[in-house]
Amino acid sequence: MSAAASRPQPRPGVLDIEAYVPGKSTAEGAEKIYKLSSNETPLGASPKAIEAFKSVVQGLEFYPDGLSTKLREAIAAKYGLDAERILCGSGSDELLSLLANAYVGPGDEGVMSEYGFLVYPIAIRAAGGKPVIAKERDFQTDVDALLKAVTPRTKLVFLANPNNPTGTYIPYSEVKRLHAGLPPHVLLVLDAAYAEYVRRNDYASGLELVSTSENVVMTRTFSKIFGLANLRIGWLYGPAHVVDALNRIRSAFNVNGAAIAAGAAAITDDAHVAAALAHNDRWLPWLTSKISALGLSVTPSVGNFLLIHFPTEPGKTAKDADAFLSRRGLILRTLGAYNLPNALRLTIGSEEANHKVVETLGKFLSEAVPARG
Ligand SMILES: *Cc1c(COP(=O)(O)O)cnc(C)c1O
Repeated sequence: MSAAASRPQPRPGVLDIEAYVPGKSTAEGAEKIYKLSSNETPLGASPKAIEAFKSVVQGLEFYPDGLSTKLREAIAAKYGLDAERILCGSGSDELLSLLANAYVGPGDEGVMSEYGFLVYPIAIRAAGGKPVIAKERDFQTDVDALLKAVTPRTKLVFLANPNNPTGTYIPYSEVKRLHAGLPPHVLLVLDAAYAEYVRRNDYASGLELVSTSENVVMTRTFSKIFGLANLRIGWLYGPAHVVDALNRIRSAFNVNGAAIAAGAAAITDDAHVAAALAHNDRWLPWLTSKISALGLSVTPSVGNFLLIHFPTEPGKTAKDADAFLSRRGLILRTLGAYNLPNALRLTIGSEEANHKVVETLGKFLSEAVPARG
């Protein structure tokens, strides 16, 4: 008997999954670290959320509300939604997994875009399904390619809009065209993790489409503009029948009490969100133009991060740049796992971090000498 046969084996497919690679958070030898690798906000959490978080210390022995009632009600009030059709999760990552687990089974397919969020193929595979990839055009989701990728086995389509790591988006008219082209039994998951950052008249997160369809779900997160990534809070708005299915398979207390309290407070802090948006509105175009002026190609972004493309000449590659920047405390996101080895993703940081990135990239490009041998 082989060693493998004599011990428990995961289901077929589990060991084919490449574990998610989070953005780095340390850099050897650097005095000060600027973590620009996970699209976190440089403004921190809302002071109201921090206060609410602290209040939970008085009851750590009690189980949280398994229905996240206060949080769902706060979200419903903020966006004018039906609280019964909101489901909260331990980050939107959990919700994406729940969706795959509920709707995708062995032999089924889940469709996603070429440079779509890395959590999607993991969630699809973990459910026993097969990710089917639709090519992009200029790092932008191609609705025709997504529709062509749909087969009788398709159960679900994941669309991040805006997408991470590209930063691009498709207009609402395109989202509606995608939806119109899908068979009614295919679930369309609109991941709107960066919706709050988008400043485009032709963009919509998809709330209206959820309200008027039986097969569309929208996911959102408190990890990005709300600055609560550490607490793991996501939410989903969907048809009642989808929320019902997910409620049956989720863990009973999937959102902890500190997260419920802090999330409910954060969503009422309009001033904090406005400040984060104003910061992004100022620095996203600034970084785009400064980095482009250095001669690097930057994919136009509507989120709080930028996809920067590097040359392939030895000494000037994305890998070289990452090493150069890391030594100076600037941690960007490498994208080998996304099949974008020649690019780095940069999160919009503090004023200080942003200046330092441009200055350091300039130094890198002027100092970089071709590696020998
Ligand atoms: C950051 C991000 C999320 C949010 O994940 P959480 O689990 O809520 O922290 C979801 N989708 C995309 C595309 C993201 O970039």
